Parts: sequence; structure tokens; C-alpha cells
Amino acid sequence: MERKQILTILFFPVLFVLILINCKPKSDSDEETLLLLAAASTRICANSAFTGTTVVNSTATLNGSTDCITGMTSSMSSDLPDWIRNHFKCAVGSVSGNNYVFRSQNIPNTKSYYFGTNSPMYEALAAGKTPAGTNQIQSQCLVYTIPKNPTEKLTNKTGTQSGYVSVGITVNGLAIFNNAAAPGDVLASEVATFDKYNGHPQNSGVYHHHSQPLNVTNDNANLVGVLLDGFPVYGLKCDNGTSGTGDDGNPGTVGPALDANHGHTAATVLFPSGIYHYHYAYDATATTNTLIGSFFHGIPGTVSN
Ligand SMILES: [Zn+2]
Ligand SMILES: [Zn+2]
Repeated sequence: MERKQILTILFFPVLFVLILINCKPKSDSDEETLLLLAAASTRICANSAFTGTTVVNSTATLNGSTDCITGMTSSMSSDLPDWIRNHFKCAVGSVSGNNYVFRSQNIPNTKSYYFGTNSPMYEALAAGKTPAGTNQIQSQCLVYTIPKNPTEKLTNKTGTQSGYVSVGITVNGLAIFNNAAAPGDVLASEVATFDKYNGHPQNSGVYHHHSQPLNVTNDNANLVGVLLDGFPVYGLKCDNGTSGTGDDGNPGTVGPALDANHGHTAATVLFPSGIYHYHYAYDATATTNTLIGSFFHGIPGTVSN
């Protein structure tokens, strides 16, 4: 091999890395950049241009204008539909082909015990609660790819229990978990570890909600988030759009009764012609309001971290 060829082989990877470091995405949905990043790293949102810097708990403060933690990137691209663009924040949302893509550092925009006592975002647990071991909130690199046109899957439904780092994203960029606790535990006992907003981190610091995310909204009829299958999530009540402030009707009174996955098809303010959507509903086994049982209603997209 000639010396020149050897030099080329040796320096090509260095050049490639330098190109990546200098590469700035043209927009949130710049697929070319995404592919380069995917090739460079298994954590495709590691580039801070996509999701901001890693949030450090000891310096975490709330940004008053974005209502997200300082250092989190919060943007929703203009080609997203109104129900996403006008309601989601504390994540980077974009359209990519037939999917919506959300990238999130997954840091709650409300105080929590799980920021740790040296954080400006710390607050003590409520009386009667007990900490979830030494778990603390940690900055994540979550990427959700969610179908734009959700497809119902009425038989052989896809399970929510196996291997998902999250089954959906809240309107404030946080992971949604199903009604199962960590192996060896039951959700009814984990409820005692929830912070004031029904959240807690798992052992690698992924803050998440099994129950109704009270940091999203106290209005049960408001949009809470979207699951991986593209179907929206609401609180306990169904908003059928007959009132300017949200018509807080019980599912079953508004639209059909909830199915085994706590969902039904009915009109909402954001989806006036009707859509399948999930609700939080009381779960006697878990002793709290949970979102979903063991299955997605539709065909889920993907999530990575
Ligand atoms: Zn949990
Ligand atoms: Zn409903």
C-alpha cells in the first residue's frame, strides 16, 4: 500500500468526526444530519444542537419564558399539526416522513424530591411518602418515532411491557410508563414513592409517570400526551368540545365506555371528528389512576435512549 493511501485511511475517520462536530442541523427535521449522527453514535441526540446540553441537577433552574428547565431545547417545527405544535414543549418535535419525531432530555419542569437536595428544583416528598431508593433524575437522550397516521390493531395487539424505555411522551416532554412496576415490585407500593406530580425516576434516572402526570395539567379534559402508537392521551375526563372551557364528561357518558386499555373513540376539542384516545382511569390493583394495561391499541412506533 502506498504511503498516501495509508495516510488517507488513517485520517478519514478524523475528518469524519471533525465534519460531525462542525455540522449544524439546518432544521429540526434535517434527515441527512440525523443519519450522520446515527452513524456516529448509538445515542443519536448526543449532539447538543438537537436537545441542548446535559441538564445538571445542581444547577437546574426553571426558564420562565419556555417553562422548561434551563438548558433544555424546546421547539416544535412549523410542519407539525396544531394539536402537537400548540401543546407540546420541553422537547424538540419535528416531522420526518410518515412519523413525528420527539427528542427529549426528559427533565420535569416542576420541583421534585428526585432532583436531590443540592438542586434548586428540589422539594421534600409529601408526608407519608418514602423515597425510591437513591434514584435521582438524570438527563436522558430519548428519541420517539411516532406514526403520523395511527393504525388500529384489533387482533394480536402489541404488548406494552417488553423492552420499551417509555410507551409515550407527555406534553411537557416526559416519559410515560404503563401500569407495571419494576420487576419484583408492584405499582401499589411504588405509589408511595411518587413525588407531588405522580412521577419518579427508575434506576438509570429516567423520570416517568405511571399515573396521571399532575405536572401537565389539573384539568382532566386537557391533552396529556401521545403514546408510541400515535393515539392521544387524556386525563380522567373526556372533552367532547361542547364547552369553551372543556366539557369534563365521564367516558361512557361522552362516547363509549373505556375498553381494557382505558381507551375509546369519541370527539374531543382537538379532534372534533373523533379519534381513539386513551384515558387515565382508576386501577384498583395499583390503587391509583393508570393509563394502560398490557397492550397498545395501535401499531407502535419506536423509542430509543
Ligand atoms: Zn416507575
Ligand atoms: Zn374520551
